[in-house]
Amino acid sequence: MNGMSARRDAIRAITDYNPGHTPLNFGDTSFTEIFGCNVFNDKAMRERLPQNVYTSLKKTIELGEKLDPSVADIVAKAMKDWALEKGATHFTHVFYPLTGLTAEKHDSFLVPDGQGGAVAEFSGKMLIKGESDASCFPSGGLRATFEARGYTAWDVTSPAYILENPNGTFLCIPTVFVSWTGEALDKKTPLLRSLQALNKQAQRVLRIFGVATKLPIICYAGVEQEYFLIDRNFVFARPDLLISGRTLFGAKPAKGQEFEDQYYGVTPRRVMSFMMEVDRELFKLGIPVKTRHNEVAPSQFEIAPIYEQGNLATDHNQLVMSVLRSVAKRYGMVCLLHEKPFAGINGSGKHLNYSIGNNEVGCLFDPGDTPHENAQFLVFCAAMLRAVHKYGPLLRATVASAANDHRLGGYEAPPAIMSVYLGEQLTEVFEQIKKGKVKGLKRKDTMHIGVDTLPPLPIDPGDRNRTSPFAFTGNRFEFRAVGSSMSVAGAQVALNTILAESLDYIATTLEEALQDGQSNLHAAVQNLLQKIMLEHEAIIFNGDGYSKKWHEEAENRGLANIKTTPEALPMLSAASTIAVFTKYGVLSETELRSRQEIYLEQYCKTIETEANLMLHLAKTVIFPASFRYQNELAQACANMLAIGKEYGTTTLDQLTANLRGMQKVTYALQDLMDGDRGQTDLEQAQFYCQTILPAMSEVRKHADLLESIIADDLWPLPSYQEMLFIR
Ligand code: ADP
Ligand code: MG
Repeated sequence: MNGMSARRDAIRAITDYNPGHTPLNFGDTSFTEIFGCNVFNDKAMRERLPQNVYTSLKKTIELGEKLDPSVADIVAKAMKDWALEKGATHFTHVFYPLTGLTAEKHDSFLVPDGQGGAVAEFSGKMLIKGESDASCFPSGGLRATFEARGYTAWDVTSPAYILENPNGTFLCIPTVFVSWTGEALDKKTPLLRSLQALNKQAQRVLRIFGVATKLPIICYAGVEQEYFLIDRNFVFARPDLLISGRTLFGAKPAKGQEFEDQYYGVTPRRVMSFMMEVDRELFKLGIPVKTRHNEVAPSQFEIAPIYEQGNLATDHNQLVMSVLRSVAKRYGMVCLLHEKPFAGINGSGKHLNYSIGNNEVGCLFDPGDTPHENAQFLVFCAAMLRAVHKYGPLLRATVASAANDHRLGGYEAPPAIMSVYLGEQLTEVFEQIKKGKVKGLKRKDTMHIGVDTLPPLPIDPGDRNRTSPFAFTGNRFEFRAVGSSMSVAGAQVALNTILAESLDYIATTLEEALQDGQSNLHAAVQNLLQKIMLEHEAIIFNGDGYSKKWHEEAENRGLANIKTTPEALPMLSAASTIAVFTKYGVLSETELRSRQEIYLEQYCKTIETEANLMLHLAKTVIFPASFRYQNELAQACANMLAIGKEYGTTTLDQLTANLRGMQKVTYALQDLMDGDRGQTDLEQAQFYCQTILPAMSEVRKHADLLESIIADDLWPLPSYQEMLFIR
């Protein structure tokens, strides 16, 4: 398929598009009824479990108490009956290996009954523990190949659910994935460990404030997911998009996103149908999707559920990504989750809205009405500031990937410098604390919007600063550097752990200050906050994170600006990281080192694949198209000469020069790929970063020049213009 026919087919797909296969509204079932219908949730458990088993299980889910293994058989039976009623034939432990993807291995419920028939069986043992060959998942040297066993273990805090397929359904059980020696091979295990660490330290601080809660303090995550939708005909005609998820070639279109006419614009009909079906599918899975809208770039969109407990929100985001992908196919489109599918057009991120608290104490990042009086809020807020300042480079490492490097530090996403946006009001509070006395502040201002019929709007305490990687937005922090295709587990693991460390420091300091029983809590808090401000105020930045000036200032403030993955990842095995992760039992040194190795390897493989694809496309697609056009031009010149007319060869000359240039840089890239790429993972990653990527961008530059002069009907790859604007 070439660009021309892909274009024709894409246009036909839109004009012929007639959704009929699924109801586009909720028909006779209201969405409140659909919500959670495929989840073994609280309602299902209450209905189906004996009271004592239900209570015991709830204690594990809500209070974090140890699971009583004796309930497993009863839960398994109830779960199986429920699943069979929903048409399930199989069950699978679902786990989250370090590839960032979701993994599953199906087993049938079916067991022969010994008399030629079969029965459905699912025991407590099968629910709690699964064994799977781990040798095909990255382990970073954690597991010798002769001992390839890996275990999955039921995560009681994330409910089981049913996935549908036109040919049936199956039961999915969220699990952790560990090696036979108990080392974490996945993203969930450290997340659960970090939640325990966070709870312990947050409770200490709360106790000092006289707050007791029997519920654990947890983190909440609200995950805004950005994505592109492209007609699949184009993707079939673009091996680069198909294989690597991004366009390795593509001249800048005449119109890009500069008209600013896309953000919140009216969604095209086919896309809206897609969004409605996505919402419906996610509702069934109990995922509270709330917002959907057009994003800044053409054909870019966003979906955001309401925030939930961090571990659940993480599992749900994995489901959101897979539902987006699979529903897109039903509408003749491909959902691109890559961080930078199109050069020169905004990439996609995943904002992680993060807060801590529980149902009893509420949200601990919520200032209430008078922030300066709310000492407890200020303490938790200061803990976060201190953590991000102390461990900024580590946070940067949690969002490092080959794909996200294309986005971070461009003028569309937060820079690779970690800083915190606090907003004017809160910054003023902390400024006064630093100076030693908190006076009454200006009353909360109202904003005048110049239309008398509208009420004055209160200024959002965290007004919209889109350029900050870590912004306080009223009752939460928004970490904006996560890439659109990434799991949100890694960032939360780091945030929970470094916040636990800060809270530990705060609790210890306050406990010491209050030891004599005489000292006053408010004075102790004031002293502590002042100290934190004096040491960590450099992390606060409310200005424009995209500006050049900030890059200079950040350097003066000693804030790291880590631009690439090979520079960022070594942070995972830095002494400070090992110290904090081992102290709170989140990841051991071996586990950290294995993660670093795996992520470096992934970085290398990504770029290796892209470079190979690029070479292949250059030689088999772009050269032939160029020669064909060269031939046509040469023929035209020859024809003119034959009838005695001199014909200028400007276009031919230009084409020939560009083609020569293209050949030169392509073979230069080929030579580099054939040569020595270094020994260790880190050396190889550095080689890809410093040598291969620049060589690839040379190839792209030449190819894009060719695209801009070669006859449209001869250029085989769909153009940016058609991919982004035919929808
Ligand atoms: P915006 O695009 O303006 O940042 P959205 O409404 O798209 O806002 O997304 C905000 C996200 O933050 C939602 O997922 C929302 O549920 C979540 N959120 C709101 N309050 C909290 C909180 N206290 N903790 C974590 N997430 C929150
Ligand atoms: Mg948003």
